[in-house]
Amino acid sequence: MKYFDFHGEKISRLGFGLMRLPVINDDQSAVDYDKVEEMFLYAYENGINYFDSAFPYHNGFSEKTLGKILTNNHLHDKVNVATKLFTLGIKSPDFDPRKMLDEQLSRLQQDHIDFYLMHGLHGDQWEYLCEHFDIKNYLKDLKAQGVLRHLGFSFHDTYEKFVEIIDDFDEWEFAQIQYNYLDHEYQAGDKGLAYARSKGIPLNVMEPCKGGSLIFPNYPEVEEIKKKHGLENVSNAELAFSYVFDKPGFMVVLSGMNEMSQMKENIEIANKYDNNTLSPEADAAIDEIRYLLEHSENIPCTGCRYCTAGCPMQIQIPNAFSIYNEAQKFKNPAAQKRNYDRACANIADCIECGQCQNACPQHLEIPQLLKKVREYMEG
Ligand code: SF4
Ligand code: SF4
Repeated sequence: MKYFDFHGEKISRLGFGLMRLPVINDDQSAVDYDKVEEMFLYAYENGINYFDSAFPYHNGFSEKTLGKILTNNHLHDKVNVATKLFTLGIKSPDFDPRKMLDEQLSRLQQDHIDFYLMHGLHGDQWEYLCEHFDIKNYLKDLKAQGVLRHLGFSFHDTYEKFVEIIDDFDEWEFAQIQYNYLDHEYQAGDKGLAYARSKGIPLNVMEPCKGGSLIFPNYPEVEEIKKKHGLENVSNAELAFSYVFDKPGFMVVLSGMNEMSQMKENIEIANKYDNNTLSPEADAAIDEIRYLLEHSENIPCTGCRYCTAGCPMQIQIPNAFSIYNEAQKFKNPAAQKRNYDRACANIADCIECGQCQNACPQHLEIPQLLKKVREYMEG
């Protein structure tokens, strides 16, 4: 495993994102403990020491599972635990951030958090936190007490907003952005990476494979491009990760792995690549794949599921988008018909209330897109 030197601490360049863990019977709360523990221990034994959770992941069971694994295996203090203050969950000025933190510490079964992030900042959330909760002093105090070791934020907004938030608080030590070869100019993007570097703030990467979208299990045009550049034996995951590992300024590349084969492949890739290791052939192939993708129709949903919690009709929005994207990519809706019938039986019940749209960090126009999905899938 390769490591990033974070003020003298060795942080693994590959991090285990705990938001898409294996579950039982499709129940997001029923995390499959045995499978996760097996993956966790494999990760740990192979040098991964950064584990990224958040208050709402798996309805709290991501943090709980992590805490249980750490306790059962005596690994508290041997790894870095990252989790987040769930800013989207704050519904009123009566909210008590300390209460949420105490709950997180209890779920994690430890007395401190190594990397604590303000979760998914966008819009005026940072201003709201400052105004209503005196968040800067709150965070500084907890850092002084050793409860929060390092302070950062994850981010989903424009480059300008990114700069504004970075400049507003001297205590930021790291941040986390969505970044991959398709999104390198999206949100904070390359410019945000350069700006953070100029301030000495390393960034973590979310969605290096765009929520799995860049894996293309069966995309003949992508395979053709790779072949043309002599890369037929390089997997699509490897291509996507190598692009991100190549960029100086990134600390941890997070991957939301949900099966052991993925974990093994990603660790092999992480062992192979570092800053400035992307070959000219891979660079050229990525340019061409990017062109191909940018010219095909696709709904850029990352599968984060922030939209589903408040949907009064319990529509499985990310499932609908993912099925549509698969069908659209191959121009073959019939091949996805069974999946569509199973996951989208109530899609027509959408009352266009807009709740989902407000929660979506990708700013997708969800009710309109759901109509488009129906038209395409139902003919
Ligand atoms: S707009 Fe439709 S999909 Fe979105 S929350 Fe409302 S009912 Fe659910
Ligand atoms: S529609 Fe938006 S909020 Fe919902 S899963 Fe996709 S990206 Fe996340």
